[in-house]
Amino acid sequence: MTIFNRLLLCFFLISINTFAQKEQKPTFQVVPLGIKGGIDEKNLSAYLLAPINTKDFICLDAGTVNAGIEVAIKNKAFKVSTSEVLRKYIKGYLISHAHLDHVSGLIINSPADSSKTVYATNKCMEMMENHYFNDQTWANFGDAGVGFPLKKYHFQTLTIDEETPLTNTTMTVKAFPLSHVNPFESTAFLIKNGDAYALYLGDTGPDAVEKSTDLHDLWTAIAPLVKDKQLKGIFIEVSFPNEQPDKFLFGHLTPNYLMKELHALEELAGKDSLKGFKIIITHLKPPAKNIVKIKEQLKNQNDLGLKIIYPEQGKRFEL
Ligand SMILES: [Zn+2]
Repeated sequence: MTIFNRLLLCFFLISINTFAQKEQKPTFQVVPLGIKGGIDEKNLSAYLLAPINTKDFICLDAGTVNAGIEVAIKNKAFKVSTSEVLRKYIKGYLISHAHLDHVSGLIINSPADSSKTVYATNKCMEMMENHYFNDQTWANFGDAGVGFPLKKYHFQTLTIDEETPLTNTTMTVKAFPLSHVNPFESTAFLIKNGDAYALYLGDTGPDAVEKSTDLHDLWTAIAPLVKDKQLKGIFIEVSFPNEQPDKFLFGHLTPNYLMKELHALEELAGKDSLKGFKIIITHLKPPAKNIVKIKEQLKNQNDLGLKIIYPEQGKRFEL
């Protein structure tokens, strides 16, 4: 081998190595503000997501906001004041559905918040306008709906399946419908930054129980991103342990149903495509003994090789 060839080979190997490292490099950062599926009002579903090395966060659901920021500051996830995180770092809210455990933080913090956009699909936005920001149960901080709009928030209705830029960030969002006790709708948000994606699901029941194809349709849409390793993780709920009877699921998943759904996704994305894939489990419902049970069951049933992540309030992690 000539020196030139050797150099060429060396260069080639270095390039491959750099490329491989690039693929492994995290692209998103997450700071959970609240992680539980009920009861504890200082720790309800809300997840801050931003491209890594930026402060441009979008808040995925907003059950708990202020209390979560305080914990995050205590854990050194942020080095500024609570008010600065709320007003400057959070660039907008994506609300999956209007159940109170997903929006109460947004409502209560609205007087202290800065001007930004609230994104939701049509039905969810209508519910928020008619029942919360209506000048009766709360002031209308939006720029649409009933009463006197204070226009602090821009209420932006998302069209299903249409890519929409998230203002003041480099990210975009695409919304997909979910069934949360049919015909009540919830939403999944596919967030894109560059060529990297993260998927967040609001509350959802399994297709089999909901008599719906929403999850299957979602899996079909994102399977190519799993295959190409562009999707960095899926936030998805598991609310109850397997012992919960179908008729008392109330539009939620158990470990059995989660695995069934993820098997459907693997079938579409290819064998072993979910090996090491990050699944972030959300909306675990107290009591604590149920949560222990859910974690045990998921561990025992994880035949896909998933990397299961249990987010903790105020603890930053990367995707
Ligand atoms: Zn719900």
